[in-house]
Amino acid sequence: MDFLDFHHHKQNKTGIYNLDFNEKIPSGNFSAGLHPKDITENWKSDFEKIKGISLSKNCLALGECGLDGLIDIDEKLQNEVFQNHITWAEEIRKPIIIHCVRRFSQILHFKKAKVPLIIHGFNKKENTAKELLDAGFYLSFGKATLDNLSLQKLIEDFPVRKMFLETDDADFDIAELYEKVSEIKCISLEELKNQMWENLQKVINYG
Ligand SMILES: [Zn+2]
Repeated sequence: MDFLDFHHHKQNKTGIYNLDFNEKIPSGNFSAGLHPKDITENWKSDFEKIKGISLSKNCLALGECGLDGLIDIDEKLQNEVFQNHITWAEEIRKPIIIHCVRRFSQILHFKKAKVPLIIHGFNKKENTAKELLDAGFYLSFGKATLDNLSLQKLIEDFPVRKMFLETDDADFDIAELYEKVSEIKCISLEELKNQMWENLQKVINYG
């Protein structure tokens, strides 16, 4: 069985490919959404396009979308666009892959969504991870895990049933990350692999 790369930006990998805005629908599994940095005054029509694309059978999730505190896009507008993703995801019953930068307390306000919520690229503090876990979020971990000791410590106590592993846009072998996490969690590579595929099934066939 291949390593599941939960969120990636290269089409030749196994997992969920993050479709760029205005890109053609690929043959493999993908996610589609309006990244906060791509929000413009035309976001409503852009989002209509995404809605259409997201109906494809191989579109497994909405996103990445979310809240970013480091970009120059109005916070209220970001919230509105994100809420639109949630409403639509609930309608078509697909999970959401969330991009969150410096907006974790705001993201928590969306915990009542009726679809699985996965924060991708998580590399923040343990108490933030706990709050998100308690609120029902899944966390996806990426390259930072390879050398960030506090992140490794956090993963030690983080349930494997609520996590994913990803390369995102970084250039490295996902196998490396699986090896690191299997070491940290003291479970076999095989077990970790199986669990990640099981988690994927759980979030796409939830309910
Ligand atoms: Zn990404």
